Amino acid sequence: MPAFEQARYVASIGKLSQLPEEGPPEIAFCGRSNVGKSSAINALTGRRRLAFTSKTPGRTQTINFFDIGEGVRLADLPGYGFARVPQAVRAQWDRLVGGYLAERGSLAALVIIMDARRPFTPHDVGMLDWAQPLERPLLVLLSKADKLNKRERAAALAQARGGLAARGMPGEVCLFSSVTREGVDEARTLLAGWVEAWNAEHGHKKAPGKGE
Ligand code: GDP
Repeated sequence: MPAFEQARYVASIGKLSQLPEEGPPEIAFCGRSNVGKSSAINALTGRRRLAFTSKTPGRTQTINFFDIGEGVRLADLPGYGFARVPQAVRAQWDRLVGGYLAERGSLAALVIIMDARRPFTPHDVGMLDWAQPLERPLLVLLSKADKLNKRERAAALAQARGGLAARGMPGEVCLFSSVTREGVDEARTLLAGWVEAWNAEHGHKKAPGKGE
């Protein structure tokens, strides 16, 4: 994996007009609240507290950007999923996240985190609806896999792979745990490959700012 350990905060934005200029290839992470997104980002970057979320429903939602070394940018997208999220919050989310995904030319890959115990919630399906037309490489991380037994693990993988196949969506699926670090190496390898492919296609040089 690129040097994910070097992470630098870039910006937090609540409106599309505040988006940082496009530069390095971006990997966007999304998932409903409490699914383990922050823990997954922290496990993948090797940072204990790079990403942290507010557990308050209805709080202003932001996309948080970090440069994670060797010209890769991570976009931490807000999630919702509380049963009674106000309509206004949902509408704001649709504008911000939907707009970001649709407009972002530098989006190199998308990671959707789903709870391995219950993948494909309505929120998860909503994310796939946003993701499908983008035709970007997709990684589904089945989080909290440490809570599953062997049979449940196989079932979760089959359910997620079957769900993607039923939609005609290509995508990789990994069991993931930020507790045991299962899936960390696999996810890093996949993401590194997609970043490399993006760079090969778009001619982006490593280490933006140095000699460009
Ligand atoms: P977020 O709201 O999606 O960013 O979720 P967090 O990363 O804050 O995690 C939500 C809760 O799930 C916290 O209590 C975490 O400790 C717990 N959690 C996150 N990842 C895992 C995991 O892989 N295994 C287990 N057992 N718990 C996890």
